[in-house]
Amino acid sequence: MNLPIGELFDVAVIGGGIQGAGVAREAVAAGYRTLLIERDEWAAATSRWSSKLIHGGLRYLESGQIDLVYHSLKERQRLLREQPTLVKPVKFFIPIYRHTRRRAWQIRAGLSLYALLTGLHPQARFRSIARAHWDELGGLRTDALQHVFQYWDGQTDDAALTRAVVDLAKKNGAYCLQHSELVAAHLQDDHQFSLDIKTADVNWQCRARNIVNSTGPWVNELLKRCTPTPEQRPISWVKGSHILVPTMNLPGIFYLEAPRDGRAVFVMPWQGKTLIGTTEVEIDTPQAAPTNDEIKYLLETALAYFPTMKTKILDSFAGVRVLPVSADSPFSRARESVLTKYSENGAALISIYGGKLTTYRHSALQVLKLLRTDK
Ligand SMILES: Cc1cc2nc3c(=O)[nH]c(=O)nc-3n(C[C@H](O)[C@H](O)[C@H](O)COP(=O)(O)OP(=O)(O)OC[C@H]3O[C@@H](n4cnc5c(N)ncnc54)[C@H](O)[C@@H]3O)c2cc1C
Repeated sequence: MNLPIGELFDVAVIGGGIQGAGVAREAVAAGYRTLLIERDEWAAATSRWSSKLIHGGLRYLESGQIDLVYHSLKERQRLLREQPTLVKPVKFFIPIYRHTRRRAWQIRAGLSLYALLTGLHPQARFRSIARAHWDELGGLRTDALQHVFQYWDGQTDDAALTRAVVDLAKKNGAYCLQHSELVAAHLQDDHQFSLDIKTADVNWQCRARNIVNSTGPWVNELLKRCTPTPEQRPISWVKGSHILVPTMNLPGIFYLEAPRDGRAVFVMPWQGKTLIGTTEVEIDTPQAAPTNDEIKYLLETALAYFPTMKTKILDSFAGVRVLPVSADSPFSRARESVLTKYSENGAALISIYGGKLTTYRHSALQVLKLLRTDK
C-alpha cells in the first residue's frame, strides 16, 4: 500500500461520510493539498442510513428554518442537474384526512412558500390530485380523505452519492484512504499538526496545516484525540430508524402524519421494496439498532394509511444524527450544520456538527471560508 508517510498536507479531512467527501472535493478543487481518511469504508455510518432524500425539507418550514430550506432547495437543483443518474426527481404525496392535524390550507401555504423558495423550475410545481385518481395511489385509504397534494423533491442512493463525491475528490488529486483511522493529532511547535494514523495494521504519521473533523456522531470523540484538546460543543445523538417491507407499487413518496404523535413519516419506493422511516429517539451512544417499539411505530403508521400492505419486515436499519443540545424536541431542533474552529498561529481544526446530506456542498464551502479567515 502506498501511504503518504511523512508528507505535509494543507488540509487533512477526517471521516469519509458525505460531509468529509464534500470538504475533500472542494478543498482539492480550491488548490489545497488534501488528505481524506475514513476508518471504515466510505459512507460507513450516517451517510448510509439516511432517508435518502435530496430535499428542501418541507417540514422545516414549520420550525421557521427558512434559510436551511432555501439552501437545501438550491443544492437539490444543483444535484439534480450535476448527478442525474444518482439524484432523481420524485413525486411526493401528502394526503389530508378529516382528522389530520395539519390542515389543507396550511399545506397549501407551505407548498406555495416551498415553490417560491425553489424559483422558476419544473420541480417548483405542486397540485391537488383529483378525487377520480385517488385509486391510483398504491392502496391509500380513501375513507375520510379530503385532499391529496402532490409536489416534487429528490431521492438518491446516499452511499453511492458519497462514493461519487470521493471519486471526484480523487480525480482532482486528493489523497483518499479507507480503513485509516486518526488515532491522535498533536499541534507541534512548527504550527503543523502531526497525525498518527492506523491503516489496517500499519501505524504511520504525516503532517497537516489544518484538520477538518467530519466524523459525524464521533465529532467530540475525535476532538478528545487532539492536543491541545479544543472545547467540545454539547450535543445529543438522535437515532432515526427505517424498515424495509415488500413493494407496494407506490407512484411516489408518501409524506404521512404518524397517528401516535403527529410526526412526519415517509413511505417510499426504494430499490424494488418499500422504505418506511423514520423515528426520532435520543440515545446515549453514537451507534444503535432499531428497537421493536420503533419497528412497531413505523408499521402502525404505514398501516394506518395503507391497510392492505404486506407487513413482512425484510430489513431494518438506524442512523444517528448530531443535534445541538436544547430544550426543544429533536423533531423541531435546527438541522443546519454548525461549524466550530480552534486555531493557533495559523493552524486550524474545524469541526462539523450535524447538517444534511442535501447541503453537504454548502457546508463544505462554509468550511473553506472558515479556513481562509484568521479567527
Ligand atoms: C435517520 C436519518 C435520516 C436522514 N435523512 C436525511 C435525508 O433524507 N436527507 C438529508 O439531506 N439528510 C438526511 N439526514 C442527515 C444526513 O444523513 C447526515 O447529515 C449526513 O449523512 C452526515 O454525514 P457525516 O459525513 O457528517 O457523518 P457520517 O456519515 O456518520 O460520517 C462520519 C464518518 O467518520 C468516520 N470516523 C469516525 N471517527 C473516525 C476516525 N477517528 N478516523 C477516521 N474516520 C473516522 C466514521 O466511520 C464515519 O464513516 C438523515 C440523518 C439521519 C440520522
